[in-house]
Amino acid sequence: MFWFGLEFLDFELERKRLVERLISEGVLKTDKVIKAMLKVPREEFVLPEYKKYAYIDSPLPILKGQTISAPHMVALMCEAADLEVGHKVLEVGTGSGYHAAVIAEIVAPKEAKVKGHVYTIERIPELVDFARKNLEKTGYNDRVTVILGDGTLGYPEAAPYDRIIVTAAAPHEPKPLLQQLKIGGKLVIPIGSRYMQYLYVIEKVSGGKFERKSLTPCVFVPLIGEHGW
Ligand code: SAM
Repeated sequence: MFWFGLEFLDFELERKRLVERLISEGVLKTDKVIKAMLKVPREEFVLPEYKKYAYIDSPLPILKGQTISAPHMVALMCEAADLEVGHKVLEVGTGSGYHAAVIAEIVAPKEAKVKGHVYTIERIPELVDFARKNLEKTGYNDRVTVILGDGTLGYPEAAPYDRIIVTAAAPHEPKPLLQQLKIGGKLVIPIGSRYMQYLYVIEKVSGGKFERKSLTPCVFVPLIGEHGW
């Protein structure tokens, strides 16, 4: 619990209320994602001046003109990815590290015997430091590896992945990401123009065959790199 000027904030209660709202709106559906959203403290992943807004369902500014995604978008992408305990996941666009922590809470919960792992890649060095610190203070640094680099190239060192989640807007499907998916693996990615995109789930059904489903319109910051903008 924290005092902000005259305001008294109970982050746990605010988190619970937000999760209840996302359930009632039909965004949160499965126990595993609900449990993870209830557990990860978003207030530890935002800049100090935005802590009191941590449980408003909105993106918030982080460093270098980037944003931590809105909680409903994190929830929706985790539900769409159909994550399971034990999965190896690549996230492109680490930002604050919050979404990576939520994924880790699903694929590698502390109590599970079989542990998955999250590799998350970010192109801005200051955000790599920011995310590493946030993940360390919240106890996720053993389950999340943060890498500095161009995520449009994927991260071949740890491929193939069960799931790849891209949290920045792509002009098209980056080929290396399709290649680095396992057969049966899924890529969740916003694709469209710089200003508006659709969220897609792309499943690799065999070596060269992919099935695509478009879920919802969305707005993300651009994916900048060799296979991005
Ligand atoms: N998942 C983040 C979180 O939980 O805070 C929010 C991500 S923010 C909406 C998108 C991030 O993608 C930004 O931090 C941006 O720097 C990063 N990004 C953009 N292009 C990238 C690329 N080619 N490789 C890696 N990161 C990239």
